Amino acid sequence: MTTLPFADRLLDWFDRHGRHDLPWQHPREAYRVWISEVMLQQTQVATVIPYFERFMARFPTVTSLAEAPQDEVLRHWAGLGYYARARNLHAAAKQIATQHGGRFPDHYDAVSELPGIGRSTAGAILAQAHGQRIAILDGNVRRVLARHAGIAGWPGQPRVQAQLWDIAEQHLPQLRLADYTQATMDLGNSVCRSRAPLCLLCPVGEDCVARREDLVSALPSPKPTRARKQRSTQILLIRDAQGQILVRRRPPVGIWGGLYCPPLVAEGDSLETAIDDAGGRPQTAQGLPPIHHAFTHFDLELQPLLLDADGQAAKPGIAESDERVWIKLSDPGSWPGLPAPVRKLLESLDPPTGLPDSAKNSSQETSPCPAPSTASSSTSKPKGSTARPTPARSASASSTTSRRKPGSSGSSTRRD
Ligand code: SF4
Repeated sequence: MTTLPFADRLLDWFDRHGRHDLPWQHPREAYRVWISEVMLQQTQVATVIPYFERFMARFPTVTSLAEAPQDEVLRHWAGLGYYARARNLHAAAKQIATQHGGRFPDHYDAVSELPGIGRSTAGAILAQAHGQRIAILDGNVRRVLARHAGIAGWPGQPRVQAQLWDIAEQHLPQLRLADYTQATMDLGNSVCRSRAPLCLLCPVGEDCVARREDLVSALPSPKPTRARKQRSTQILLIRDAQGQILVRRRPPVGIWGGLYCPPLVAEGDSLETAIDDAGGRPQTAQGLPPIHHAFTHFDLELQPLLLDADGQAAKPGIAESDERVWIKLSDPGSWPGLPAPVRKLLESLDPPTGLPDSAKNSSQETSPCPAPSTASSSTSKPKGSTARPTPARSASASSTTSRRKPGSSGSSTRRD
């Protein structure tokens, strides 16, 4: 059996089942099609129709749009969202007024140079308004073509996109370009839907690769998810003889901007440099179990390192600074603004100056700067550490988990 060309079957279906009464089809002139195409970029037809009619009533011509104040254009757009589209429309109308005498251009190059008009939108305007033989590739059409031709790969990839553009151009009929363009959009909207497509009713289902090979639900391929970035840093819990912990105000920009936090070892800094910079003189150091925090774009592992300043109280001057504050572990109510996972970490520590019994009884010694990444690795030297040979005190690295309050978690995963 001979299969008719894709376009013939689609046009035949469109004549019987397509949309013929959309307001921008009567009359189907470039300015009206342009406004409708831009409104439809992120919005359903049913939502767009009343906005389109109000917009056209107020701005019936390119010139009236170009001459209107931007505030008024935005007011007529309010509710459609993505306001850059309205600003681009207004800017394009001004450009048409000055460069094309107020008449919407009918050449592809001129149309595609207007703000907010890409290749597919330019094609849709020229094909519908002037019957030009130019392909479109909006979201609906991409889905139809990817399934019908069995094109795997995310359509946002240049290689896949180029394949789909080629196919879209190959299918173009010689005549009825306006109807054909509307037909491709209608098919994607009503039959080849993203969910539950109606393949039994499809006019091009006979030679559809996705249907034949049971790939309908797999095509088009979804956008690949990028692996989230993983970062880790040491957090220095410098504790004085009174059981106070040093916190510093974070820079206004960056993670936890403006909040207080124990010093973090900056990327590229050695541990010793960071300790010196923090003003601490630790005699012992213990790695605590890491905590995890999820930011919008990356996951952060905080490796707490508890540093005891041997018998020293807070240095004079440091405690009075706005930027550097010693906070009492025993008085969480007096703490300044801390990031949630840091507050949780500090709350998990025992407030008194002495170690918990389990740690006090330990006979194992640690160096002042052991590995902080995990409790189990706390006896090894941390990356970049240049630990000073200061006397060690009795504090077991293997007992570090016992310094956390019962029930406290070593993990905090939350998106900020
Ligand atoms: S047969 Fe199904 S998957 Fe293929 S184009 Fe038609 S509706 Fe889409």
